[in-house]
Amino acid sequence: MKKLLVILIAFVFLFSPLVLSGLNKDEYEYTLTVEHLFTHCLIAYPNIAFAKDNPMRQNYNMDCITKDEFARILNSLYENDYCLVDINDTFENQNGVIVKKAVKVPKGKKALILSFDDVNYDHKKMGLGMVDKIILDENGKFATTTQIQDNEDISYSNEFIPMLENFVEKHPDFSPFNDMGTINITGYDGILGYRTQSKNKVNRQEEIEKVKPIVKKLKQNGWNFASHSYGHYHMNKLTDEQFLEEVNLWKEEVEPLVGKTKVYVYPYGEWQVFDKYGNISNKHQYLLDAGFELFCGVGMKTFYDYLPNKHNKVLFMDRKVVDGNTLRKKDACLYPFFDPEFVYDYKSRPSV
Ligand SMILES: [Zn+2]
Repeated sequence: MKKLLVILIAFVFLFSPLVLSGLNKDEYEYTLTVEHLFTHCLIAYPNIAFAKDNPMRQNYNMDCITKDEFARILNSLYENDYCLVDINDTFENQNGVIVKKAVKVPKGKKALILSFDDVNYDHKKMGLGMVDKIILDENGKFATTTQIQDNEDISYSNEFIPMLENFVEKHPDFSPFNDMGTINITGYDGILGYRTQSKNKVNRQEEIEKVKPIVKKLKQNGWNFASHSYGHYHMNKLTDEQFLEEVNLWKEEVEPLVGKTKVYVYPYGEWQVFDKYGNISNKHQYLLDAGFELFCGVGMKTFYDYLPNKHNKVLFMDRKVVDGNTLRKKDACLYPFFDPEFVYDYKSRPSV
C-alpha cells in the first residue's frame, strides 16, 4: 500500500506540469529550432505619430509598427502554428559553459520568442504617438494610460502588453506553457513609463513603488525581462571604463526592479565580443561578470549558435526585426511568420 502511495505521489509530481498544461506526454516534443522576432513599443495613436508636424514621424515610420499591424501579426503567427516559449528555457549553464537547450512545444507547433525593445516610454517622446505608461486596472488587468490634450486615455488595445495578454486569453494554445514575451529594458529614463532612474530627484521612490506591482504581475503572467543596457549607447563608442559604468548602473538601478536576468540584448544590435586578438573583449568580460549568459543581436536570418562557430564560447541569438522598414521592404525572411503585404498599415502610414 505504501509503495503504491509512493508511486502515486511520484506520478503526480512528475506529470503535474503536463496535467496543468493540458498535454499528455505524446502531445508535445522538444525542439532546438527557436525563432525570435522583435519590435519596439507600438504606435498607439497613428494619427498623432504620422502627423506632418511630428518630429518623430520618420523614425516611427522606419522603426515601429502600429497597433493594427501588431494585431494582424499575432493572428498570422497563430495561424502559422507558432507558439510562445520563454527565452530562458532555450539555454542552460553546464559547469560554466552555456549550452542550447531543447525547448518543449506541443506537437505540430513551432517555438517562437517575441521580444520588445526600449520599453521605457521616454519622456521626450510623450504625446508623440506612443502610450505614456503601462498600468494595472482595479481588476488586475493590464492597460495603458496616455495624456491626449486634456484627457487621460485608458486603453486595453493599443500596446503590446495588454494586446498579447488579451490574445492569449482568447487563444491559450498560443502560450501553451504560460510564456509571454521578453521585455528588453534600459534604465536611463526609467522603465515601463515610470521614472525610476537615479537622476529623477523629484519622485523617484514613488515611481519605484508604483512600478513594483506591475513588474510582479507581468512576471506572474509569464513575461520576462532582459537587459538592453542602461543608457542605450553605441557599444563601440564607449571606452571600457564607460561601458563598465553602464553595466554597473543597470545592476544598481534596474536589476533591483525587474530581477536578475541572464539575457543581454545589444542596443542597435552592435556587439563587441572579441578583441582584435580574438580573445574575449574587456566589455564582454564585464557582461559575463555581471551574470549575462545569452547575447542577442539583430539579423534577418535565423541564427542561434556560438561565436565563433564550432567553439562553444559565446551563445548568441539573432532577432529578426519587425518594423516599418522590414514590412515595407517585404523582407523575405518574414514570410514564414506573416505576409508583410497583408500586415502593412496602408491606412495609417504616410507613403514614403
Ligand atoms: Zn533599443
